[in-house]
Amino acid sequence: MIDWKDKREFWISGAKVIDPETAKMRTGSVLVQKGAIAEIVWQKAVETELPVLDATGYVLTPGFVDIHTHLREPGYEEKETIATGTAAAAAGGYTSVVCMANTDPVVDEPSVVEFITKRAQQVGRCRVLIAAALTKGLGGEVINEYFYLKSAGAVALSDDGKFVTNSQVMRAALEYAGFHGLTVISHCEDAFLVENSQIHEGYVSTRLGLKGAPAAAEEIAIYRDIRLAQLTGSPLHIAHVSTAGAIDLIRKAKRKGLPVTAEVTPHHLTMNDELLETYDRNLKVNPPLRGKRDSAVLLDAIRDGAIDCIATDHAPHNEIDKQVEFDMAPPGMIGLETAFAQLHTELVVPGKLDLVDLVRLMTVRPAEVLRIQGGRLRKGEPADLALIDPGEEWVLEKHLIRSKSKNTPLIGKTFTGRIRGVFLEGKWQSAILEEG
Ligand SMILES: [Zn+2]
Repeated sequence: MIDWKDKREFWISGAKVIDPETAKMRTGSVLVQKGAIAEIVWQKAVETELPVLDATGYVLTPGFVDIHTHLREPGYEEKETIATGTAAAAAGGYTSVVCMANTDPVVDEPSVVEFITKRAQQVGRCRVLIAAALTKGLGGEVINEYFYLKSAGAVALSDDGKFVTNSQVMRAALEYAGFHGLTVISHCEDAFLVENSQIHEGYVSTRLGLKGAPAAAEEIAIYRDIRLAQLTGSPLHIAHVSTAGAIDLIRKAKRKGLPVTAEVTPHHLTMNDELLETYDRNLKVNPPLRGKRDSAVLLDAIRDGAIDCIATDHAPHNEIDKQVEFDMAPPGMIGLETAFAQLHTELVVPGKLDLVDLVRLMTVRPAEVLRIQGGRLRKGEPADLALIDPGEEWVLEKHLIRSKSKNTPLIGKTFTGRIRGVFLEGKWQSAILEEG
């Protein structure tokens, strides 16, 4: 349980401190007082009577913000709970997550928002914010009472996992959400084009004899929602963008000044459908891993701002769920604990992306997209911070995973860069199990 009344005072000194808002990394020291950032000084050492945590050699950033997490509670506690999911988040450097509404019951009533909020206060290891459902039971037909959902604490709206097929319903949802100052997060895929699909439609799906989901399914849906954002003037956020064509559409929308933002997952940035030759069920995700060219275009898009942020789409499924024929396996992989390490290893170490830019994409930018707190290094804000050892090499072993589900294709992989832990309102939580 989080000790919300933690009152310790200390300096974290000598770290390379990243301020995502100014996109600068400098040696500095941060004073934590009563759970808040009390002072930031750009010098290696400080003269003080207070305890000093020597963080020389480490990188200190605001805690990461994940705006696309599936915590599975209530209803699917065999896959993940608020306790295990937030422990996984903290181990991955996250201090805030936004959880999706496809639980059982669906988050379409204020009482469910209140339940999750209360549970997170009891057992959470990071802040839990809530995206409530756009439509009743995620059914795509009847829009929910956004005023009451917002009053209960919801920060966004999404039928994630499902595309709202009825354009009139989506138009009304956008209008109503915009009126209440809530961003709609859309899971864009044409439901008919992706029916029974297993992987990306292309050379690999033909070779493996698996039914493919064409890139067009995603792009048709994105085009419709961009048009509806234009029609209504309401903010639209596109979840887990995965195709080059989708990036074209988003670029055009942004050029027109439309209120459209988008996210990409670590797996779509770093993996492609060629890996599926192994038929590893943990590589089955929705939207599917696309072609090599798509990943390259996604990387360009995070570099130049066409994509606003990185979100994990952490989607836990237990081993029994995944130990079935490929066609029967539910889509999704966990991602909270590996997002930073994977992107640091695959993109920052080889020089494809700056560390500061990666941190921006995981902190201030997702917070800006949903207009929520967190992800900034500011005096007076809660001391939600992540401590990173950028040089540490480590291997992801199954027993190190804190998520209740272990569905990741990355077990056994060597990473460069490791989250050492987070401060949540100044309270330290180690990311490394042996250290407790
Ligand atoms: Zn989704």
